[in-house]
Amino acid sequence: MEPGAAAAGSRRVLRRLRDVMAGAGTAQQKLDQVVRIVAADMVAEVCSCYIRRAGDLLELFATEGLRPEAVHRTRLRIGEGLVGAIAATARPLALAEAQSHPDFAYRPETGEEVYHSLMGVPILRGGRVLGVLVVQNRTQRHYGEEEIEALQTIAMVLAEIAASGDLVSPVEQQPGEGNVTLPTRLDGVRLNVGLAVGQAVLHQPRVAIRRIVAEDIAAELERLRQATTAMQSAIDELLAQTDIPASGEHHDVLETYRMFAADRGWLQRIADAVRGGLTAEAAAQRVLDDTRARLSQATDPYIKERLADLEDVANRLQRHLTGNPVTAASQAELPEEFVVVARNMGPAELLDYDRRRLKGVVLEEGSPGAHVAVVARALDVPVVGRVKDVLLRVEAGDVVVVDGDDAIVVLRPSDDIVQAAQARIQVRQGRQQQYAALKDLPAQTKDGIAIELNLNVGMLIDLPYLDEAGAHGIGLFRTELQFMLRDDFPTVAQQSALYRRVLDQAGDRPVTFRTLDIGGDKLLPYMAGEPEENPAMGWRAVRIALDRPALLRQQLRAFIRAAAGKRLRVMFPMVAVIDEYDAAREVLSLELDRVRKRGGVLPSAVEAGAMLEVPALLWQLPDLLSRVDFVSVGTNDLMQFLFAADRGNARIAERYDYLSPAVLRVLADIARECNGAGKPFALCGEMAGDPLGAMALIGLGYRNLSMAPRSFGRVKAMVRSLDCRILCDFLATCGGDGKSLRVSLRNFAQDHDVTI
Ligand code: PEP
Ligand code: MG
Repeated sequence: MEPGAAAAGSRRVLRRLRDVMAGAGTAQQKLDQVVRIVAADMVAEVCSCYIRRAGDLLELFATEGLRPEAVHRTRLRIGEGLVGAIAATARPLALAEAQSHPDFAYRPETGEEVYHSLMGVPILRGGRVLGVLVVQNRTQRHYGEEEIEALQTIAMVLAEIAASGDLVSPVEQQPGEGNVTLPTRLDGVRLNVGLAVGQAVLHQPRVAIRRIVAEDIAAELERLRQATTAMQSAIDELLAQTDIPASGEHHDVLETYRMFAADRGWLQRIADAVRGGLTAEAAAQRVLDDTRARLSQATDPYIKERLADLEDVANRLQRHLTGNPVTAASQAELPEEFVVVARNMGPAELLDYDRRRLKGVVLEEGSPGAHVAVVARALDVPVVGRVKDVLLRVEAGDVVVVDGDDAIVVLRPSDDIVQAAQARIQVRQGRQQQYAALKDLPAQTKDGIAIELNLNVGMLIDLPYLDEAGAHGIGLFRTELQFMLRDDFPTVAQQSALYRRVLDQAGDRPVTFRTLDIGGDKLLPYMAGEPEENPAMGWRAVRIALDRPALLRQQLRAFIRAAAGKRLRVMFPMVAVIDEYDAAREVLSLELDRVRKRGGVLPSAVEAGAMLEVPALLWQLPDLLSRVDFVSVGTNDLMQFLFAADRGNARIAERYDYLSPAVLRVLADIARECNGAGKPFALCGEMAGDPLGAMALIGLGYRNLSMAPRSFGRVKAMVRSLDCRILCDFLATCGGDGKSLRVSLRNFAQDHDVTI
């Protein structure tokens, strides 16, 4: 069929469908008419519509061509037969010889054995499959792309009937028979710990599309053009605004919007869908549904994040089309204590919300390395991610409990659940107060061993914790966050301004700046890189720094400038061989020479060190220790490389334990070698922030630990309740269960009143 003819055909049938939709009759009668029209229009002997019912079943609701007695009798499971396969994959299917397909499931009551070819599409709404629309022919017909497209467009109209609640209750169409009005417990993945209760705020709620079928295609295309232009200039204006913080936190998100908003392929597909007879807003939805259905199977987090961007842009476009353009979230209307629920979101979008009232975040997607999770950790907001279909189950204003510790979300909890959560929140707050009371007391064990407790931070908003916690200093300043939250490389001046503020706020307390640890899961939107099979083991951290020396030089220059007259501690990440350390250290010397030659003010002292996080370095320790001023063990990366277990993969997150004999032996060796060489050593991985992990480390000889601010109070309380000598005696004899010493260590803590 000619493309033009297909579009005209699609418009014709859509007009007839519109009349059916607008006419009198029940939803069932309308459905019966629709299958008749479609069968005639597509010259198919059969057109059938299956609707999703409770229990993940698809029920034949209407048919033209199959035996009428099969209606409401034939039921298939999602995934069963070809119709079930279409629902399971959310993808169209077109087969000239359906019966020879391995998924074919014959239902005698339908009498469909005489039909050879089959074309079916999912009936989608908001990324969910509400049913399947199928046509069949007696002959071995080869359905073309245009015909599949036309059937998809018709399925959009059917989605309206299916979602109306007139055929089956919308509750039935929820996955797993969840009841939207009852408390619902959903599992997810922990993106940040903590507990919160608040009312749901739906991040960019879906725009309700009232008109689906276009009255006048030319007028509709013009609407699309105008809305696109309006949206693009609104984004440009936002970007040009000078009151957006210079740190550029909003810029990367807006820049991505701009890129998507101007994407020709995307706009072209929307225009094509309009030419097929849809209104502009329905066309934008159709393209989005289609893309989402295609990409939702993708496991690549990068693709998932891009899908989130595309959804935001489609939403913006629809808002422009429906005369409701996006404005800054109207904070005044938000509840006193709220939980943001979103498919996914960028870090800047999270920062848009009033931090005092934002209590928690629930995402349908998201990964521990996602920027939104990074920012949420800095804000100390609990986040549960990968909560399947939460947006379909939650209504704005619903009470939501976010339990980041156990990665659970409860929607519309009963009163006793709310009370229990609130009681736990109070206990935590009480504990925080107790920890705050420890602030000015020394971090010292009962037998008098002083432990330096430091903070891991990465943003200015983290700095008040230094005073609040009474930390010794900053053991790890992750400089990459400033780079990640921007749309371009920060200049030397911008970098040094940030570092200066950090040093100013730290006062006499030591600060260890780590040079850029980008690459891996920490990508800079503005830095082109080749896609990598194993980014965690790819071009990252000091490897990038040495290949792009200008980047490293600028950063070191910024450190030196910021630390004029003060102590400067610089640490290089992901060093795998001594040469890498030497080369990076050499760049630091060159930059110091440069300042010296120019008569500038040098730091009062310069110390350089390396992260110990690549196993190969462990067998080069004597050489390394003779060169560095200090080392810091990064157990997060060290663990992932020792166990060959991706640290961002939730599936294996609990599989290996840093309290296993293997890891403890490695850590003990490091401590022994460093002590032998008389070199200061610290540990700044997550293990240091777990009271049990920190206890084990102290037993192994670690005296300098650096951790996230939220862990500080707990670890300090542990330190002050510990008798190190007894612990060392215990460790010398304790064997554990071969896999982990966790249980033995916990028992030890309980038996000896160590607060963990
Ligand atoms: C580590 O790897 O343990 C570490 C502290 O660094 P990051 O988590 O930033 O990789
Ligand atoms: Mg690391």
